[in-house]
Amino acid sequence: MESSFELLKSEAETRRQIIACPLRYTLRLSLSIDTFSGYVIIDFITRKVSDNLWIDYAGDSIRIMRINTTQITPKRKGNKLYLGRLNPGTHKLHIEFSSSYSTNGTGLHKFVDPYDDKLYIYSYMCPYYANKVFPCFDQPDLKGTFSISIDAKSEYIVISNEEIESQENIDSQYKRVFFKPTPPMSTYILAILCGDYEGEDDIFSRSSISCFIRRREIMEWLDVGYELYSKFFGIDMPFSKCSQVFCPEFNMGAMENAGCVTINDSHVWKEKPVKSEYNWLQNTILHELCHMWFGNYVTLRWWDDLWLNESFATYFSYFASSKSINPEAWAGFFVNKVKAYSMDCLSSTHPVHVEVADTQEAITNLDYITYWKGASLLKNLAFIIGEEAFSQGLKRYFSNYSWLNVELADFVNSMQSPLLKKWVLEWVETKGLNSLELDINISDTKITQCQVHQGIVSGNILRTHCLLIEGLNDEGTVFKEKVTISPQETTELSDLIGKTNVKGIIVNSEDHGYIQVILDPMSMEFFFQAGNIKTLSTLNRALAWQSLWNRVEDLKMKGSEFIKYVTQLLEYEEDEHIIDLISGYSHTILSDYCPLSLLPEYSHMLFESIMLKLQSTPENKCLQRKIFSVAYTDNDIIKAFEYSLNLGRSEKWKGIMLFSKISSYETIKDMLNEELKYDRNDMSILLTNYCESAAYDNKKNTWEVIVNKTGQSMIQVEYLMKAFWETKNLEFRSEYYQKYFDVLPNIIANFDREYAENFLKYMLPKDDDLDKLIASLRQVDIQHIWVMRFVEDTIAVLEKNKKHLLNFA
Ligand SMILES: [Zn+2]
Repeated sequence: MESSFELLKSEAETRRQIIACPLRYTLRLSLSIDTFSGYVIIDFITRKVSDNLWIDYAGDSIRIMRINTTQITPKRKGNKLYLGRLNPGTHKLHIEFSSSYSTNGTGLHKFVDPYDDKLYIYSYMCPYYANKVFPCFDQPDLKGTFSISIDAKSEYIVISNEEIESQENIDSQYKRVFFKPTPPMSTYILAILCGDYEGEDDIFSRSSISCFIRRREIMEWLDVGYELYSKFFGIDMPFSKCSQVFCPEFNMGAMENAGCVTINDSHVWKEKPVKSEYNWLQNTILHELCHMWFGNYVTLRWWDDLWLNESFATYFSYFASSKSINPEAWAGFFVNKVKAYSMDCLSSTHPVHVEVADTQEAITNLDYITYWKGASLLKNLAFIIGEEAFSQGLKRYFSNYSWLNVELADFVNSMQSPLLKKWVLEWVETKGLNSLELDINISDTKITQCQVHQGIVSGNILRTHCLLIEGLNDEGTVFKEKVTISPQETTELSDLIGKTNVKGIIVNSEDHGYIQVILDPMSMEFFFQAGNIKTLSTLNRALAWQSLWNRVEDLKMKGSEFIKYVTQLLEYEEDEHIIDLISGYSHTILSDYCPLSLLPEYSHMLFESIMLKLQSTPENKCLQRKIFSVAYTDNDIIKAFEYSLNLGRSEKWKGIMLFSKISSYETIKDMLNEELKYDRNDMSILLTNYCESAAYDNKKNTWEVIVNKTGQSMIQVEYLMKAFWETKNLEFRSEYYQKYFDVLPNIIANFDREYAENFLKYMLPKDDDLDKLIASLRQVDIQHIWVMRFVEDTIAVLEKNKKHLLNFA
């Protein structure tokens, strides 16, 4: 709506026509405790006369602005600083500026560790926040070289994209650090960090958690990535280093700044992590490293091609991990991929490659479609054309576009495969999801007839699917066939006819396809009713559970039946990926598909089965945690809380958080103070916020803090928001239901997007009357793409939930 605070694609195109690349930036930043200031000198060339060229700046103030020795008075509109009339030729722009740090994780974020009062500053520039820090041409295809120097307190560590070239003392308290010039790069991957960081082996974190950093493992994973990526892409690591810095209050999982990755430090564990956490870190390290090639070296021209960054980095991190570190990596991949399936069912889903009108929409597309669907499509592409051809194509891509900007067609041309154009059109440029259901006849244990029916789950086309079909019996695999399914409603699978002794079939074995498989009745009986699922490989078990889940999604099976299978088969399951997957499905059923009247019975059933399983595997941390997400009755909540007291710190916190949902503020206050006394770190403060907000009699205070946005950082308020509606006592609900819709327009108009988006999402009221909630949402009339998308998706989900509530038992 407010385009003057965003960058439009059309504006970026206009500016690219005028300015030639690469630009040369000389940037000096002086970082004081409360504010920062500095100057930037930009040497650039314009190709034609321009009257309206502007530079982006969202910081506080401009002190001096000079172009080619002429001082100009800054004419500022929104984020735009206009440069006046420029003739073609070389120009030198000099701007002095000053600004304050942010508390929402964008631009330059400042954090003071409550544990020891040490200070940390870090940058987050993607996609359009570099201009919050200094004036720049903040679009990915205006690459420049950056000579950065930073003035900071002498005792601070200062880190940036390049290695330090030299440093000198300014006075007894401050030093000036000069970094080597960078290669040509986009503004969104700039990195500026300064503070009491501690580090060795180029891996840094704040001081209070430094001893928990898993340096040895991180270095091993980086080595694996360096070797595999260099070989597969045909080019060595393009940057001179790749520092890893763990940052507090980080908005995203991590950010791939060139030569200086920043990682959310909530992923530094003080205790033994569960498998999903550990794998998350491993894949994140490999993902961000992969961006040094995909994104930082060869860069998208505009955010339409976000997938050229994210889909590739996601796919290759699992590819690298599966080759040499984690043989079960693809099972972990699958647990995330199912979230893309869910998102792809929503009406607001989008193609992997999609027109992006402005930088606001670019942020909205940092989602499961761009990351996980895109990565799944690449897994399928590698399966279709073979790894070697894939590698050859990518080698051409990197050699043709070294340090340049690219778009979809450049990738297609580099692959030089006759299949690519059709594949891109069908999969990358067209949104939606298909389903497959096997129709099979078996006579005397022999397959006599076999077809597969393709349907449309979302979007409007049928597609060509290339995947593996695996037949199994009690002894294991009977056959594995690579098949191509035509873009039509029914495809005969004649290659399978005549196969004998088959009792169950995994369509999409090894998970090469992107498809919603609906389990056929024969396989359902063999895998689930007869319990043979326990004999399958981890990935096949995941696929079998997913195709059973799709029967629920397709209203072919009741939610209550699914819960019964989980309670019966959990006994045989040890793998954390599968436990995560099926408890995720169960959680959706209990929270969205189960009528309130039946919720105590079914959540208790699950609670009991997990407790029972824990008797034989008491150390299984993953299962321990599931207790806290299924406990619903007051009795189970108290049981779970008492159980948590004998577990590790994180589980104990989960117990307290759960208990706070049925407690008054007075009941939990002392408990929280005890915890803070024991370990006053930022995470304890966040969790304290959560518990205080959940307490049923503390809504008024919490609401005031949230809507007045006073004094706390964004993430601290986020924890208040996340707990607000979690309270079991429902009396407060009607009052705040209306308040939410009343204040929403004001919050969105006046607060920064990050804050407003959290409010929109986390403070959305809970109400059992879904029609009422849908009607209220339909009244929301706010023309921001991210608001409209959220409203549209939420309505779609609520409409779907209504059908499932009727189909539960
Ligand atoms: Zn990424």
